[in-house]
Amino acid sequence: MLQAVNQDGVKRHFLEALTEMEWRERKRHERFFCPVCQEEVLIKLGKKKRWHFSHKSRARCPAARHGETDVHRLGKEKLFRWLQSQGEQVSLEYWIPESRQRPDLYICGERQVVIEYQCAEMTVDQTMKRTKAYRAQRMNDLWILSGARVRRRMTQLFRFRLFEWYMSQNRHYERYFVYFDPQSDTFCFLRHVIPLDVSSCFATYTLFPSSEVTLSQLSHPPPMMPSYEASILSYRQKRRKSPVYRYQHRTFLSYLSSYHCHTPPLEAGWPLPSQCYIQIPCDIWQTHFLFSFVATQQNGVILFDQACSFLKRLFATFPHAIVPYCRRRDVIERIVSEYLQLLCVFSSLLPRSASTFVCCSPPHSEWTEETERHHIKYWESLFVNRTSIAMLEGGKSSKKDEYRKGRGDGGRSEKG
Ligand SMILES: [Zn+2]
Repeated sequence: MLQAVNQDGVKRHFLEALTEMEWRERKRHERFFCPVCQEEVLIKLGKKKRWHFSHKSRARCPAARHGETDVHRLGKEKLFRWLQSQGEQVSLEYWIPESRQRPDLYICGERQVVIEYQCAEMTVDQTMKRTKAYRAQRMNDLWILSGARVRRRMTQLFRFRLFEWYMSQNRHYERYFVYFDPQSDTFCFLRHVIPLDVSSCFATYTLFPSSEVTLSQLSHPPPMMPSYEASILSYRQKRRKSPVYRYQHRTFLSYLSSYHCHTPPLEAGWPLPSQCYIQIPCDIWQTHFLFSFVATQQNGVILFDQACSFLKRLFATFPHAIVPYCRRRDVIERIVSEYLQLLCVFSSLLPRSASTFVCCSPPHSEWTEETERHHIKYWESLFVNRTSIAMLEGGKSSKKDEYRKGRGDGGRSEKG
């Protein structure tokens, strides 16, 4: 904790500009108490850790958190000052008695905003429990992850822990993450996050000194148009050579060989915005979708509802196909909608109405780098650079419009 109250009920916190001597003086003459549980707390003015107050016994206090690290304390402190410099009415370690929560920072005003600065590992359950409690009180939650949590695998490929997905932001169909590194005083954004699966995604990394960023930019970052062409191409090439097919997914290999293929077709294995809710690799389920559903429909007519039913049955054959805290139906509808849109821009399907499609060309089991690049451009136009979708569609109204209109966040169950 960075704050406590003394025996006279006066708030004491480490954001005050006091010297070490002055703090030692206070330590000699004052007693300190937790503002939440009223228990006496110890003041820690050591050399190794950042100064803080500590409960004698944490177990009794509902607001005490385990393992608060120095980076966490420093981050909290710097974020507090950063918000203050923008004229925000911000409170540090604000106690919300209704939900018995103590967010790192709380901003009151027209919009109540709670900010959690997340350094440590958490479970999905813990994350959702906190988020739901804030939202139940009409508070806007903003998760800022510690800069050390960015895990880069390739220029535009990042690794994730499952719980971190529940801390992503979603604005204007763009999913992104906010990080803060208190040592260098910089904000880092992972923008245009397109998941490959629940543990990795394509994203664009940008870095700004905190003096150049405002609170509203965290919730509404300025538009940008990255390109993933080279990264996706190299990922898809590697993936096809990857031993994952040979060792982990033997059943999938034999499934492929029953269609006289060694690798998934060109139209399978595409990252989709809602893929973060699905724990089955996209090349596997998309190949099944193409071979066992699209190719088998009478007169090549694909109905949206039937596509959803197929995927529901397919997912039921995998253990834990969908991540927790999601409405199964929403996730399936979203992923089907996204994949059908993609097949339309690939010209594999032709939209007849919002929910009816006609199959125009069978999946390609042989293809060249040129056709692959061509497909990547279409994939990008649909999921990364959305402004170009209109040009591709020629102004037609289709399932794509429906997607763009109302479906910001994924199937994450936000309202309980
Ligand atoms: Zn306490």
